[in-house]
Amino acid sequence: MTDRLYYRDSGLLYFEAEIVAAGPHADKYFTVLDRSAFYPTSGGQLFDTGNINDIEIIDVIEDDNHDVRHISEKPVGKVGDKVKGTVNRERRLKNRQVHTAQHILSQAFVKLFGCDTVSVHLGEAYANIELNTLSLTEEQTAAAEKLANEIIRDNLSVDVIFADDELLKYLPIRKIPEREGVLRVIKIGEFECSACGGTHCHRTSEVGLIKITGFEKVRGRYSVEFLAGVLAVEDYLMRFDVTDRLSKTFTCHVTDLPDKVDKLALENKAFQREVARLQKELLPARAEELAAGAKMMGKVTVCSRIISDLDNNTAGQLASLTADKINGLAIIMTTDRLLLAVSEQSGLHAGELIKKFTARVTLRGGGSQKAAQVGGIAPERFDEYRELIIKLANE
Ligand SMILES: [Zn+2]
Repeated sequence: MTDRLYYRDSGLLYFEAEIVAAGPHADKYFTVLDRSAFYPTSGGQLFDTGNINDIEIIDVIEDDNHDVRHISEKPVGKVGDKVKGTVNRERRLKNRQVHTAQHILSQAFVKLFGCDTVSVHLGEAYANIELNTLSLTEEQTAAAEKLANEIIRDNLSVDVIFADDELLKYLPIRKIPEREGVLRVIKIGEFECSACGGTHCHRTSEVGLIKITGFEKVRGRYSVEFLAGVLAVEDYLMRFDVTDRLSKTFTCHVTDLPDKVDKLALENKAFQREVARLQKELLPARAEELAAGAKMMGKVTVCSRIISDLDNNTAGQLASLTADKINGLAIIMTTDRLLLAVSEQSGLHAGELIKKFTARVTLRGGGSQKAAQVGGIAPERFDEYRELIIKLANE
């Protein structure tokens, strides 16, 4: 079985070893070493990347014999070869920070609210823990986050203990796994103690920061999403950049931004209502102008236009007004719809016309005798559609 060097030192990045097995792995290659600092994906934590003898390691997995398999595009060497391994520092640091943060946060929810963590996901972009609780509030998550950050600030020692059955009796382990033999236990000061095979920081201050970014009910439990360490700092910088730009745009302090945006949203709604009112007032004049361009196409008087400054409802009213004025057919294309209106005396039926039209172009639409519409229209095909509708109106 591979001697897992990270069990004893999660900070180890360089090591020497010997190849004990190697061969093809699907369309790639695997290498097993007598000892390795590479962490294989397990327990919700991501694998390490890095190099062995300058060959890039793209995945690390645990095989059925509990050996660590290093996966690469090219073969690393043959059995018996001595090799040098280098673990990617940045990725290992992120994994250690987020994993240690998970222990601290899980224990914070236990200590404060008696909520156990039942599953863990420590991904590249974010991490989450699933809590065995039927209810969770913002006040509770804020309190857990505060306690977790106090534990970071207190700079507690994170110790690895290899505990046999006798020693286990004296350790306040959160959840004892159903496993025989010596257990690897992670103990964070007097705060947290649990069995775990992952890579962790040496002291809590190395985690830097824990930020809960959201929580939601999933399958009758609560999933709590969080960021830690480097990822939390990157998130802070991104958020600072966004709020700083908004502050400059609105020339106000960052704390005044929510009120400022609420006020703008209200004003915007009022402007929209005013614009809609003015557009309605102008409709008869616009219909007059449209009607002036009407043409006899076969036996039908037709008016058509692309209009992008009106909503579909107002554009429909404009089509109806125009159709009545020319006593014929008005076709209006908005940003996403084709609107049809006919006058009462034209002898046409807008709904029937659209039915015939959609049967030819495999679009969906419908309407009444006077007005009808089709959605999902590509504006660049307006001319082609208009010709077809006029042709169908003359049949
Ligand atoms: Zn752990």
